[in-house]
Amino acid sequence: MTSNKDLYSWLHGSWSQLAAYLAQQRIPQSLLITGKKGLGKQQLAQNFVKALLCEQRSIESLACGHCSSCQLFNANTHPDFTVIQPEEAGKSITISQIRGLTDFLLLSSQFNSYRALIINDAHRLTHAAANSFLKSLEEPVEKTCIILISDMPTALPATIRSRCQKLFVEAPDSEVAKQWLQQQQISEDLDILLNMAHGVPLTAQQYANEGILASRKSCFNDWLKISRQQVSPVFIAEQWQKVSDSLILFWMTTWVTDTLKCYFNQNPDKCYNPDFKPSLQELAQRLELKRLFKFYDLLLRQKKRLSSQLNKQLIFEEILINWARLSRK
Ligand SMILES: [Zn+2]
Repeated sequence: MTSNKDLYSWLHGSWSQLAAYLAQQRIPQSLLITGKKGLGKQQLAQNFVKALLCEQRSIESLACGHCSSCQLFNANTHPDFTVIQPEEAGKSITISQIRGLTDFLLLSSQFNSYRALIINDAHRLTHAAANSFLKSLEEPVEKTCIILISDMPTALPATIRSRCQKLFVEAPDSEVAKQWLQQQQISEDLDILLNMAHGVPLTAQQYANEGILASRKSCFNDWLKISRQQVSPVFIAEQWQKVSDSLILFWMTTWVTDTLKCYFNQNPDKCYNPDFKPSLQELAQRLELKRLFKFYDLLLRQKKRLSSQLNKQLIFEEILINWARLSRK
């Protein structure tokens, strides 16, 4: 495996594949890099382009870092390289952003080498932009390399996907992820952080920096208080507006599934919330199974509603009022 010290440890397998393209001079005309958000796909693509454009690439396919091409690349002023991405997070990539591309790709390289383009969040191309971009893929210009990056590749038109070579970046296994988090001086419960981050170390790091575990604990205490009729669900629904809705729904879902696990097995080995186990066991003893299943269905339904942008507070109120009712016998 070729290592590249500029990359996160879990990217070395993917890097080997890219390094082999360089070593064998088989540069993909178009490459689609996919994988979960937060794995460092952009960093991987940038490293590849830098090495592709470098004038004195090493035998391991690494950029030298000091030739004129590398210097321009480091200064973000390389004339043969450009990046296209949504102008603001969450926005689309418009046709006007794509229009200038054809000219860029047709110009000959300033360094008598390749011209390279990265499209970040490629699934954000509008329909018109995607159609216009497709022409660039259908009529490839020699010595150009187009890299598309996406964590939602199925949202890309099949006509674009089918024209690209593909590289899937996998999330690291949990030992690698934990080791990296420890190196970042993160000492919180790494299993719980990684569970929440769906195995993505950078997301886990962000959660640790934002103190998300404390917020999770405080929300779980609210959850218990509602269940003991000690606080109004409507009041808590308002309090929870401050927390990310996808996180809180994920938490509630795991609290309910863990309670169900405790129902069937007093002391389950694997649960999402090992630190809350005594309280979850207590809930399992107190609540009725049939009603718990019904509540779980409601939770999943509300999750769908929330993704369609309905009023967040109303949705939380409905969930928590039902949670309070469930606990009342
Ligand atoms: Zn160089």
